[in-house]
Amino acid sequence: MHDVIIIGAGPAGLSTAFWCDELGLDTLVLEQSEQVGGQLHRVYNPINNYLGLKASNGEELLAQFTAEVDSADFDLWTQTSISSVDLMAKRVSLASGEELQSIALVIATGVRQRELGVPGEKEFAGKGMIESGARDRELFAGQDVCVVGGGDAAVENALLLAEVCPTVTLVHRGKKLRARPEFRERLQSQHCITVFTESVLTRIMGGERIEAVEIQRKQGLKPFQLAVRGVLIRIGVEPNAELFREQLETDPGGYVVVNSQQETNVPMVFAIGDVSNPVAPTISGATGAGATAAKVIASRLNAK
Ligand code: NDP
Repeated sequence: MHDVIIIGAGPAGLSTAFWCDELGLDTLVLEQSEQVGGQLHRVYNPINNYLGLKASNGEELLAQFTAEVDSADFDLWTQTSISSVDLMAKRVSLASGEELQSIALVIATGVRQRELGVPGEKEFAGKGMIESGARDRELFAGQDVCVVGGGDAAVENALLLAEVCPTVTLVHRGKKLRARPEFRERLQSQHCITVFTESVLTRIMGGERIEAVEIQRKQGLKPFQLAVRGVLIRIGVEPNAELFREQLETDPGGYVVVNSQQETNVPMVFAIGDVSNPVAPTISGATGAGATAAKVIASRLNAK
């Protein structure tokens, strides 16, 4: 029996574990990947807004987190797959058959990139699909590329690629871009970026590598083909909450609903970080929420 089991070892889960250790709680962290860090592994641009720490990318910030966390005294199991969780009973069943029990559970499973679900998206992974403008732009320098999405992530990536690519075509399903005004203004001064609104990318085509995409402009019109060598998809994220969704309250987007103490509607089950934060997901928000959850859990256990 543990005091706390934390599911997920991104910034939110690591912060909770660090605080739980400080507060003297017996803590176990379960992480399905080989490494801790979650989405920090996919942040390729500088992080300048985490108060007190600066990093040139997510890996560098993670190294600073783990340097501190390594000295803490909690159990961390990586490469651990969970087959089911009974939230009321606080029981976690692992794929290995092992059963774990705790007094409090913390869900820190984060989000994943939403997929477009079109032919070619998976097939051309590593063969023209661009993971990040910041990371991959030298690889695609001098080539025509296409970016899908209308939020901050899509527009920021289109702007980065426009610095090195002759043409960037931005394809957005809505009438208006959702990206913030600063990005939209910069877009207007970039003449190599063409924006297709009310348009969908329907297919990615090629041989060994991507050679073209098929775009449908407005419903009912015939799709046309555009020659490109790279495609980047940034159409938002989805919460990793499938394991718990039928046992607790979620919002229409599937995010776990929590109160100001980070507690879900199931007593002593908490959710922190992006999986419970559809409005303003940030690294500092995730680590702060972890501290809140740990302090609430400690005060409840001490009051018993
Ligand atoms: P958003 O949810 O903000 O935007 C997603 C975009 O993708 C929307 O324009 C949406 O269209 C479109 N979309 C969603 N589903 C589909 C689909 N199935 N097919 C086609 N288009 C689709 O996500 P982002 O990833 O842009 O940003 C996530 C968060 O990260 C935001 O809070 C953002 O502010 C933040 N961020 C901040 C950055 C920065 O500060 N530098 C950089 C990047 C992200 P529609 O508008 O029609 O719904």
